[in-house]
Amino acid sequence: MRRAIFTEDHDAFRDSVRQFIDRTARPRAEEMIREHSIPREVWLEAGRQGLLGLSIPEEYGGSSAQDYRFNAVLAEEQSRLSAAFSSCMGIHSDVCPPYLVAHGTEEQKQRWLPGIASGEQIIAIAMTEPSGGSDLAALKTTAVRDGEEWVINGSKTFITNGHSCDLAIVAARTDPTAGAKGITLFVLEAGTQGFTKGEPLDKVGQDEADTCELFFTDVRVSDEHRLGAEGRGFILMMEHLTQERVGAAVSNVAHAAQILSETLDYVKERKAFGQAIGAFQHNKFLLAELVTKIDVTQAFVDQCVLAHGEGDLTPVDAAKAKWWSAHVQGEVLDACVQLYGGYGFMNEYRVARAWRDARVTRIWAGSNEIMKEIIGRDLGLG
Ligand SMILES: Cc1cc2nc3c(=O)[nH]c(=O)nc-3n(C[C@H](O)[C@H](O)[C@H](O)COP(=O)(O)OP(=O)(O)OC[C@H]3O[C@@H](n4cnc5c(N)ncnc54)[C@H](O)[C@@H]3O)c2cc1C
Repeated sequence: MRRAIFTEDHDAFRDSVRQFIDRTARPRAEEMIREHSIPREVWLEAGRQGLLGLSIPEEYGGSSAQDYRFNAVLAEEQSRLSAAFSSCMGIHSDVCPPYLVAHGTEEQKQRWLPGIASGEQIIAIAMTEPSGGSDLAALKTTAVRDGEEWVINGSKTFITNGHSCDLAIVAARTDPTAGAKGITLFVLEAGTQGFTKGEPLDKVGQDEADTCELFFTDVRVSDEHRLGAEGRGFILMMEHLTQERVGAAVSNVAHAAQILSETLDYVKERKAFGQAIGAFQHNKFLLAELVTKIDVTQAFVDQCVLAHGEGDLTPVDAAKAKWWSAHVQGEVLDACVQLYGGYGFMNEYRVARAWRDARVTRIWAGSNEIMKEIIGRDLGLG
């Protein structure tokens, strides 16, 4: 189905992103999987191509466009290579910068944004803790004032870009009695005394991502590292999770659509009982249903992209886009594995990896249950 949200400029940008992927990232795809990380040269080349600064104003090394449809094009093309590549790049360029742009002081913007746009400073966001991720208001990492400094203690887990990050936005409790209103954000620099990283975690999928734990032991920082007002951290996270969720939805659909298209090629070639397996009525109908689900989901997600660009996307609609796209992605990829038969279970096949990679999209960025909780509350159901 023709998508009406893009102009010729977006199409031209898509071509340039494809060239970047084909020239710089795809040749290193196996290395990224093996090493559980994206090579720094890939980050730097993405920076040189202007692909890391779409959410950063031009004066800090970013882009003059400030049109969320470009972010969507970028996420789609990255997802076509791999879900983890898209996730790592997306956390860095789409999720984290808006916190700094909207709430950073002038000094903080000048200090951190240019390095993020160039790829010299990889950034992560650390909200989830070993004791829980869904209930962010209950987080336990503390930041206690000591004269002119804050002393941060605690740990975070499952942090994308965690092992390679040079910077991390960290949510910490600054008031033990104030619940959600007692959380403050800080930007910590790798190498700061007491800030250490675990080894990349052994995950079911998303092999390219260096997801890891972060530990804080008496990390001392000044107010220059506090992002936004004291006690506003929870509100800022809720505000920016809308962009994280629409970005996740964009990636989910693009990833599923790509693997579905590769599967369509496969079922036309693979023969059983003297005919292409795609021609069996069961498989034909199954594929017809999956293609329809992708198209219908794409239409909703496209409207969310447009609304977000205009500043109109509600957290509830972002929650709908996130959970539904993750659900459809899971359904599509599971069917694709089935259509590949035994090959679908072999790690050397993209479909197998994509299936493993996709499982987490129902869990992260706010689990699908939490998305339904948000939608349900909006329906006046408590
Ligand atoms: C690969 C990967 C990358 C990640 N990257 C990041 C990152 O970069 N930064 C970061 O901060 N976090 C990251 N996360 C963490 C992710 O956001 C959390 O795993 C997620 O929010 C769920 O938190 P949890 O794992 O603690 O599960 P829990 O909160 O313990 O939830 C467990 C289960 O209970 C369900 N549940 C919880 N509350 C309710 C409720 N009220 N109603 C119904 N069901 C409920 C959940 O849906 C889930 O199914 C990542 C996770 C993974 C796996």
